[in-house]
Amino acid sequence: RTVYVNGEYLPEHEAKVSIFDRAFLMADGVYEVTSVLDGKLIDFDGHAKRLQRSLDELDMKSPVTMDELLEIHRELVRVNEIDEGLVYLQVTRGAPADRDFVFPDPETTEPTLVLFTQSKPGLADSPAAKRGMKVISIEDQRWGRRDIKTVQLLYPSMGKMMAKKAGADDAWMVEDGFVTEGTSNNAYIIKGNTIITRALSNDILHGITRAAVLRFAREAQMQVEERNYTIDEAKEADEAFITSASTFVMPVIEIDGTPVGEGTPGPRAARLREIYLEESRKAAI
Ligand code: PMP
Repeated sequence: RTVYVNGEYLPEHEAKVSIFDRAFLMADGVYEVTSVLDGKLIDFDGHAKRLQRSLDELDMKSPVTMDELLEIHRELVRVNEIDEGLVYLQVTRGAPADRDFVFPDPETTEPTLVLFTQSKPGLADSPAAKRGMKVISIEDQRWGRRDIKTVQLLYPSMGKMMAKKAGADDAWMVEDGFVTEGTSNNAYIIKGNTIITRALSNDILHGITRAAVLRFAREAQMQVEERNYTIDEAKEADEAFITSASTFVMPVIEIDGTPVGEGTPGPRAARLREIYLEESRKAAI
């Protein structure tokens, strides 16, 4: 695989980042994951805009322009011959001369930019989407700025492990009695013709897939309610699903061992997945 590090395209085993890099020492970095279908990027603009917002919130600069970033994405997709898969991008505050809690002077410390690809044949035609996912609920013990897409992913990773140990596929996190989101996705329930999902705030990541799916849902004459809901309300819903750049729309069929609806992927979630894939392929660049 060819990867990108700070201006260079290299074989992955030759790519190196300093041990003083603040992402390594302090999780001081942000990332984006953009999916690839038919060799094209899905919703690149959305991901580029959110990256810029994450950087701004943390007083960081991008080492390249968003146009250059698009070119790097395209070049990696081309050289690695990605038909279906992902492009992972990470910007860190860089590697100052020594470890210090204080942010280094941006005049003397360059940010680090790393990109790599992952080939995932069958991403769109996924067996998991036909089967549906099982989730458990866990306390949300992350920090308070979940709207910033940082590489500080230890709690979500622990959540996935808790799910795995319980024989489930993922965990929905709960704060003050209400669902925030999945470990790496936004969470939704459907009651009748209405999609219910938590409103945007600092409590959740502002999903790029979320924005698109809610737009398509409204266009398909579904109602959208952005509000809090509990795990009990979710268990009683007709359908449930998640969204993310790497899973698109994925039905949820069980919560804490209780089947949602019929306990099989629901028709509305399946339809939203179809619409999302169809529209995103058309708009891919
Ligand atoms: N919430 C969290 C916590 C995530 O990690 C992700 C995936 N990065 C999402 C939501 C979904 O965001 P997107 O649709 O932009 O991938």
